[in-house]
Amino acid sequence: MARIPDAFIDDLLARTDLVELIGARVPLKRQGREYSARCPFHDERSPSFTVSPSKQFYHCFGCGAHGTAIAFLMNYDRLEFLDAVEELAKRAGVEVPKDTRARNASGESLDLYAALEAAAQFFKRQLDATPQAQDYLRQRGVDAENRQRFGIGYAPDAWDALKNALGTDERRMRLLESAGLFSKGDSGRVYDKFRKRIMFPIHDRRGRVIAFGGRVTDKDDSPKYLNSPETSLFHKGRELYGLWQVRQAHSKIERLIVVEGYMDVVALFQYGVTQAVATLGTATTPEHAELLFRNAPDVVFCFDGDKAGRGAAWKALESALPRMRDGRQAFFLFLPEGEDPDSIVRKDGAAGFEARLAQAMPLSEFLFAELSKDVKLGSLDGKARLAERARPLLAQIPDGAFRDLMHARLTELTGANLAKPQPETPRAPAPQRAGATARRSLVRSAICLLLQEPALAQDTPWPPLFGALRQPGVGLLVELVALVRERPQLTTGALLEHMAGREEEAALHKLAQQTLPGDTATWREEWRDVLAQLDQQTLAQRVDELKTQQANAGLSNEDKDELRELMKLIVRR
Ligand SMILES: [Zn+2]
Repeated sequence: MARIPDAFIDDLLARTDLVELIGARVPLKRQGREYSARCPFHDERSPSFTVSPSKQFYHCFGCGAHGTAIAFLMNYDRLEFLDAVEELAKRAGVEVPKDTRARNASGESLDLYAALEAAAQFFKRQLDATPQAQDYLRQRGVDAENRQRFGIGYAPDAWDALKNALGTDERRMRLLESAGLFSKGDSGRVYDKFRKRIMFPIHDRRGRVIAFGGRVTDKDDSPKYLNSPETSLFHKGRELYGLWQVRQAHSKIERLIVVEGYMDVVALFQYGVTQAVATLGTATTPEHAELLFRNAPDVVFCFDGDKAGRGAAWKALESALPRMRDGRQAFFLFLPEGEDPDSIVRKDGAAGFEARLAQAMPLSEFLFAELSKDVKLGSLDGKARLAERARPLLAQIPDGAFRDLMHARLTELTGANLAKPQPETPRAPAPQRAGATARRSLVRSAICLLLQEPALAQDTPWPPLFGALRQPGVGLLVELVALVRERPQLTTGALLEHMAGREEEAALHKLAQQTLPGDTATWREEWRDVLAQLDQQTLAQRVDELKTQQANAGLSNEDKDELRELMKLIVRR
């Protein structure tokens, strides 16, 4: 992905008022230093969503949603990262740096979009000119409105219809080839890849055609579905057929239904089930799962009831597990043999299909059913085996009520709390251990203060003495101090944005949402005190080193001088 300079993001966040941005979408109520609301990301009766104007970030104590203006736009307006940045830039009246945008929409890819659009128009004209293809769609109940909505077309039964119509100049020919619309024979002859197929353009999240899927009209032809190959614009693992249309039809999507074929999506739409999307000939990837849940809190995966279908469902479950934050739900629906959503909805209508959806299996049920398939739950062995299989899977679920429930269910099934890591039994801490804990919490206090009021770091001596301290978190603390010194206007939110995607991100968010007692003056005092203590520990660390060396190999004169100086500097407590 194109990288936007950090400084630009900082500037953008500094120009954005998060309270105004969120307030325009969610009614906010002032409460002391912060604003609160009923969380827009999960259902709740009393408000646990807070927006901090000073820190410039939001947090929900109910579902854990949190972030800056960028994250809010991504999650609430369902924008991609770059689009969220563009949106904020537009509001702030600034331009996104050219080289970043250039990589998103280079001249080459703009031409590619245009070539794909031309191909889509060609296929549409061919559909208008081919009664048999129209008959096929008519038999399936697809009316003109939905043909239009999905941009459905037809690739004629010829080797070079598209080539002759559009490949007239060399450049366009090359573009269409790189878009995967042609195949090359052994002799090097280029011909149309899609022939005698109903053509379904695949749209990206802005509604541009990025690829095609073709479905045979003749039962005996194969393969039943044929997709464009992966191109610079089209990555199967990241796209969902129909998502553009679903988003056009709904301002708020309550749930998404994942089916296997384009025809299923179109048929469901035709019969009034307007929230279906399809993966494009691949298993459900983690990117798919993320995209699904970013668009809707509930996702129903529909699969064939056969072995292949259950295997595909299991893949989907594995992709979904790490994304099962509270407030999100996944269900699995297995269809009877020989049926697909298309055939069911045409036979039983929307109500019939909805009735099946209502019977879909919750993720928890599917997970435990699959894991205990060949396990005798009556025996101790069997229980242990189930726990062993479940443990790594449950570990992937984000912290929250759902994870707790899954553990509780496992306990219920196995009769023992085998899955949860045992809480450490409290024991009398050895003196050294207590010291280590105290030191750790000192670094933690420093980071906590810094997140409360980033400006504290501005007049920290540089490079800080404590940078040499060998303790967990010191590197992170130094990094944060350096960031603020370099960019004095950073708010807490902007500071966190710098840490987006890092493994420390979640821990930092937790610290940032604390509201420390006191005000800037008391925090500044505490900050200086904590840093002074850290400096002292750094000196003590060096003294220990020198003393060890003295005992082992002796000290040079230089070392001796240093030791003497250090002893003077160390404050005895
Ligand atoms: Zn929430």
